[in-house]
Parts: sequence; structure tokens; C-alpha cells
Amino acid sequence: MTSPASGTDTAAALLDYAPVPRSALGPALNDQGYYVGRVERNLYWVTDGSYQSAFLTTKDGVVLFDAPPSIGGNIRRAVDEIASANGVSNKVTHLVYSHHHADHAGASSLFDKNVIRIGHEETKRLLLRDNDPARPAPQETFADRRTLKIGGERIELAWRGPNHSPDNIFIHFPDHDALMLIDIVNSGWAPISISNLSEDIPGYVAAPAIALDYPWKHFMGGHVTRLGTRDDVTLHQQYMADIDASVRKALVSVDPTPFFQKYGDNPWAAVSALFDAWTDAGAAPVIEKYTGVLAAADVYTRSTVFWVMESIRLDLGFASYVHP
Ligand SMILES: [Zn+2]
Repeated sequence: MTSPASGTDTAAALLDYAPVPRSALGPALNDQGYYVGRVERNLYWVTDGSYQSAFLTTKDGVVLFDAPPSIGGNIRRAVDEIASANGVSNKVTHLVYSHHHADHAGASSLFDKNVIRIGHEETKRLLLRDNDPARPAPQETFADRRTLKIGGERIELAWRGPNHSPDNIFIHFPDHDALMLIDIVNSGWAPISISNLSEDIPGYVAAPAIALDYPWKHFMGGHVTRLGTRDDVTLHQQYMADIDASVRKALVSVDPTPFFQKYGDNPWAAVSALFDAWTDAGAAPVIEKYTGVLAAADVYTRSTVFWVMESIRLDLGFASYVHP
């Protein structure tokens, strides 16, 4: 018998997965559960091992990029630690939102209401819609591009169309050789459920090439335990390209006819079994190729394959059948 109270039974029923490759691991966390490190010069990143945010210390104060609630109060501690070590102001003056999602912005309200919040105009619309007191809407917005000059530092914001979310932006630090692009590439790791829970798969698939068009050396993807490199973004691109090719092959090689014959007057049973068959066929070679290369490829590839398959069918019309 398994009950909610018997954690051991639940744990025994959980699946085992391939070990996490060493290449996926980042620095150890401190006793308070965070790590703060220098990206370049006065640009720093903070992680709790799952989420990442970043900040710039400037002569006029600190500019924060995202406030994930899982890091929460440790963002403040990380800023204080770096500011006091370098003898600069720890006053957070600006907060830039990468996108509206609560898991990257939900600690925004820990910071003063006078902090200037900046985001895409769609981020503002969505935050006003969602009306979450933890995420005040940005007062300053932009449509396509905006250059921030704060305390002598330059930050380039750009919206290049929907991808993971409708409002997700590219944050380029031209004087720090760094790019922040959240929820697209998890450096060293496979994307989580359905392509990092992405709403627009063609945009999600195109985003890494846009990222690589910028000059940078350090990549902040918003997740997991370490910073990324250009090689991480290229490897992710290859993974998504392999999924695309594998899905197209599965869609034309698995015959739908027997599924509909078997389930007769229950078309949803046929569709469900057919989707499973397409997904399994598409995922198998990708899981085999990337296990040990990208952490959790065996955990999450199937979910991403399913979502990419639906986009290839529905957005691109691949293998679409027109009744004669
Ligand atoms: Zn998100």
C-alpha cells in the first residue's frame, strides 16, 4: 500500500536514470544555498543549483536581471556579499525582467517599490493581466530594442518574436562578453517538459541561432548549475535538429491505419495511442545519442519530442493528410 504519508514506498517506485555527466555540474553552493560568481568584471551571476539570476554593480547602484523566487532572499545576500567585497553600493536601482513567468520574476516584490522595473511591453501586459503582487509590472517598456545606459554600463535589450513565451527577450552585455537568454538552452542539460514549457516551438527552435549572432563568450540560460558557452548553445541546437529529423522520420514511418481500426468509434483512443507511437519512435534514437552527453536526456527527451512533433504537424503542416 502506498499512501501520501509513506515516502519510502513512493521513493521505491520512482524510476532510476543515467548519472548526470560531470560536464553538466557547476560550482558548489554555500551554506545558505546559493553561489555567486563573477561573469566578467562587474557582472555577476547567482544560482541555487536550479535557477539563475544576474546583476551588475555600477557606480550608481545595482541592476538586477530576473528575481527567481527559489533564490529569493539569497539574491539580496549575494548582492550584499559582492558589494561589500568590492566597496560599491548595494542599492538595487533597476530590475530587468527577461519575461513574465513567476518562476523567474516572483521575487521581484522583495525589492523596493521604487526600483525601476524594465521589461518588454508584452511582459507588462501579461503581468497586469496576471495581477500577481509578487511581480509588479514594469514601469519602463520597449517594443523591439532598447539600449540601457545605467551607471556607465551598457545593456542591449531585444525582442525577436515569441519563443519560450510571447515576451522573452535577449539581454546582451556588449562590454561584458555575455548574453542572457532565459528558458531556451539549459547549459549541459536537456530542456525540461515540452521544450522548456515553450509556447512557440518555431520561435524556440530559431532562438539559439539569434543568440549565436551576438558576440559573447559567457551564456546565462537561467537554469541549472553553471554558466554556458557557445559550444553549449551549439550542442543544444544539434539536439533540437536531431529531434526534428527523427520526428519527421517517425511521422512518415508509423502507419496510423491500425490504430483507427482497433479503436473504431473511439477516435481519441486511436489518437492517443498514435501520438505515443510517434513520440516513442521519434525519441528513441535521440535518447540513445544524447544520454551521457546532455544531462537528463533520458528523463525529458520524450516530452520534448512530443511537443516538437505537434509543432511539426500543426505549425509546419508536415505529413498533413488531406482526404481526397
Ligand atoms: Zn519561463
